[in-house]
Amino acid sequence: MSDVLVPLGKRTETAGPRPVPAPGAPRVYVETYGCQMNVADSDLIGSVLADAGYATCDRAEDAEILVVNTCAVREKAEERVTARAAELGALKRKKPGTVLAIVGCMAEHLKESLIERAPAVDVIAGPDSYRRLPELLAAARQVHAAPVIDVRLDKAETYEGLSGAVGGDGVSGFVTIQRGCDKFCTFCVVPFTRGRERGTPPREVLRQVRELAAAGYREVVLLGQTVNSYVWDETSFAGLLRAVCRVEGIERVRFTSPYPVDFTADVIAAIAEEPKICKYVHLPVQSGSDVVLERMKRGYTVADYRAIVHALRAAIPEIAFSTDILTGFSGETEDDHAQTLALMTELRFDSAFMFAYSERDLTFAAKKLTDDVPEQIKKRRLTEIIALQERVSGEVFAAHVGRRERVLVHGPSKRDPAQLMGRTDGFKSVILPAGVGTVGELVDVTITRATMATLFAGPAT
Ligand code: SF4
Repeated sequence: MSDVLVPLGKRTETAGPRPVPAPGAPRVYVETYGCQMNVADSDLIGSVLADAGYATCDRAEDAEILVVNTCAVREKAEERVTARAAELGALKRKKPGTVLAIVGCMAEHLKESLIERAPAVDVIAGPDSYRRLPELLAAARQVHAAPVIDVRLDKAETYEGLSGAVGGDGVSGFVTIQRGCDKFCTFCVVPFTRGRERGTPPREVLRQVRELAAAGYREVVLLGQTVNSYVWDETSFAGLLRAVCRVEGIERVRFTSPYPVDFTADVIAAIAEEPKICKYVHLPVQSGSDVVLERMKRGYTVADYRAIVHALRAAIPEIAFSTDILTGFSGETEDDHAQTLALMTELRFDSAFMFAYSERDLTFAAKKLTDDVPEQIKKRRLTEIIALQERVSGEVFAAHVGRRERVLVHGPSKRDPAQLMGRTDGFKSVILPAGVGTVGELVDVTITRATMATLFAGPAT
């Protein structure tokens, strides 16, 4: 998944009463790295702190509390946070009394040793410690000596009753339906940083979805590390999807990220039958080689993966796919790499998140396998993978020119705020000309132009 950096900004009030921050209340600035789960967690953190009477702000310079919500999936993500923590440390020195909290997966991964990489840190808190953040911050503000550390993993914590579903762009909101992961892929640190898999009870998921709808959101994205393995008593993932579709006011339902072999026939039927479920699936493949998939302990072969894609395409011909590719994993040969390129050519994903492998300690791969593909070879393979995907994406996006598409308008375009940006059902960004659509509206447009990552709609006709 792409790295994102999202300041916690304007918030939509939830249905529940929330204390108005007292004049002079400490201001919190939250910065987010990593996946959508972290974006949703930052909303949750904002919610917890707002309930505790903190005010929020959009700039680190204005804040007394700096919260950095981190990712540990790749070494690069941790390096970015280390560099950012140094900048925020400099800010702290200019404004004594400021507290720096580093939270999330990197905090859980490095625990006390994070202090060596970020000496300015005052609070280290893992992904299951957010309910206790007000106390941790209060302790840090009192003491100002050794950092306050809380990295307990809690296999029962689903943050039930908290309102995380209030951030985002006001049009599309996240609801975390599952936390943690039990799959233990050999390259992945997530089961160690987020703990064991547990689902959020369906009544709580539906409460949060209704809360989003009441706040004017039109789309909900259900989040989980392996979202389609969700189960709660008698409720399956397919059952939950269908129940979410019944919530009035919500027009689109998405989910991410599914685990390929947990894609069951009832989920495929729900996507095909429920008009509100978007016809788009992010289906991480990681490699096109059975040998590498086995070494990654992904739990499927290329044939299994291909069969899932074919089943989805047979039931929903217009379905769009994205994927994750991890190149240069331990023992990957030129032939394995060629098989990945061949699978990408065959399946023609609409888009992909592509990375070179970096070893993460704690994982099986770090302990038992050798990170033996030289860096320059990883780099070259990644370049080839990206070039192929760019060509395929260019062709897939170009094929949309001339088509009518229903677009949900999300907000102003980043490049030109006079224009609006929306998304198709298949999760493709569309730039709308001025005067077409309003934020939160579903509009039907004709695509007139495409790049490999963006569609452009013509004027209203
Ligand atoms: S399914 Fe595998 S890659 Fe995904 S979070 Fe779990 S262990 Fe990591």
